Amino acid sequence: MEFKKNDLVKVEIDDIGHDGEGIGKVEGYTLFVKDAVIGDCVLARITKTKKNYGYARVEKVEMPSPFRVEPKCSFHRQCGGCQIQAMSYERQLVFKQDKVRNNLIRIGGFEESFVDSVMEPIVGMDEPWHYRNKAQYPVGYDKNGNLITGFYAGRTHDIIANTDCALGAPENKWILEAVLSYMQENNVTAYDEKSGKGLLRHILIRTGFASGEIMVCLVINGKKLPAESKLIEKMTVLDLGDSEKKIVSISISINTEKTNVIMGKEIHTLWGRDYIEDSIRILEAREETIELAAGVIDFEATGDAVTFRISPLSFYQVNPKQTERLYSLALSYAGLTGEETVWDLYCGIGTISLFLAKKAKQVYGVEIIPQAIEDARENARINGITNAAFFVGKAEEVLPEKYEKEGIYADVIVVDPPRKGCDEKCLGTMLAMQPKRIVYVSCDSATLARDLQILSDGGYEVKRVRCVDQFGQSVHVETVCLLSKHRPDEYIDVGVVC
Ligand code: SAH
Repeated sequence: MEFKKNDLVKVEIDDIGHDGEGIGKVEGYTLFVKDAVIGDCVLARITKTKKNYGYARVEKVEMPSPFRVEPKCSFHRQCGGCQIQAMSYERQLVFKQDKVRNNLIRIGGFEESFVDSVMEPIVGMDEPWHYRNKAQYPVGYDKNGNLITGFYAGRTHDIIANTDCALGAPENKWILEAVLSYMQENNVTAYDEKSGKGLLRHILIRTGFASGEIMVCLVINGKKLPAESKLIEKMTVLDLGDSEKKIVSISISINTEKTNVIMGKEIHTLWGRDYIEDSIRILEAREETIELAAGVIDFEATGDAVTFRISPLSFYQVNPKQTERLYSLALSYAGLTGEETVWDLYCGIGTISLFLAKKAKQVYGVEIIPQAIEDARENARINGITNAAFFVGKAEEVLPEKYEKEGIYADVIVVDPPRKGCDEKCLGTMLAMQPKRIVYVSCDSATLARDLQILSDGGYEVKRVRCVDQFGQSVHVETVCLLSKHRPDEYIDVGVVC
């Protein structure tokens, strides 16, 4: 049978796609069904057809999957943020573990039995809600001209009015409501993307979960905020319920460009500090208490932590609690004794570098964004860390140059690249440097699999792989891997140019 757009079909969902969509077959024709959960039987409306497969969305759940749960947020289908909120958290973890496993097999070309022997159980969150420490809310009007703030609906710039996101800090809703009431009382207009008119564009809220410090930054299409003192007054007396957190910084960011970029470069502090602080603890994993089904793993604080200074424009990990776990695992994979020279490539603001510096002789970080390196140096300073040095530049340029000209050395190389993975030239230099160990932290398991194959062809053996869920309710997953060098006589030159 030929299917066409708008057909209504009954589908049993027996798989999950990379974006969290359900996959099922109708008369041999594969459908990718948005918002369907594996194990569901649904009535789905076809939205697009191709020769061998098509797309559909759930019209009605006829028989719910045992993995289907009541979503916390009523906007989860419209909003682009949580693709798999209707799936139980335990099943989400299995999905993520499988996704990485499958990529290592299909893309990396590793044997199934080998992958199963090196993969450790995924590290889930204790509480997969309210974990994000940063949110940027667009401001606009609804159909009736009322001021609203919330989130963009998936793939659009239509604002869904929602001040109570299930992933953001719980205090955000009071802050957002106070900003809206300040706007109403003082006739502050919301920015309109189409005309480029109106003042307030976005509200940025950042929270230090460990420190309890909150920053509010209003992004405006102008130079000044009217009745500034009224805003400050509202914010400083704001009742945040039983929360012990406190607003310590209020600022504006000037963005008068017609652009999708949220933040403007110029920031003025209106009240309080220019930054908030937060800290990330170094943990130790208790390996014997691993339980996949619950996604629980026991970590113990070592008493050591690194403090970060976060300004409106700084990069900082959005889920600090899982970051502690991810980077603590990376640190333990690095196996440092205090004698090692370590290179941390794609180091950002130096989160991993500063962790490593606590246990290594010397750390060198490389990062492409100059501001991030300034932050990394400042963070090293406020933590009294003197054995970490940072270089601005592309990893694939800085590393070969230092290696060829200065003959730099590494006992351990850590990489935490963006989604596209490591550049081939960077991988080639890493291989030529022959560190004892490579620790690869990845946010995209497809490029991770590709790069692991290159590294293992170059003489490194994948020893341990562990997923860490930093983004519950979404399809993203982070992975940390340990590779070690085969004995030197086993080193195979694969001829990658470096
Ligand atoms: N570990 C870091 C975050 C890494 S995210 C932290 O916790 O802060 C990946 C980083 O790689 C980003 O900061 C990005 O700016 C940087 N980056 C992207 N391409 C790069 C390249 N070619 N060379 C070096 N850094 C790069």
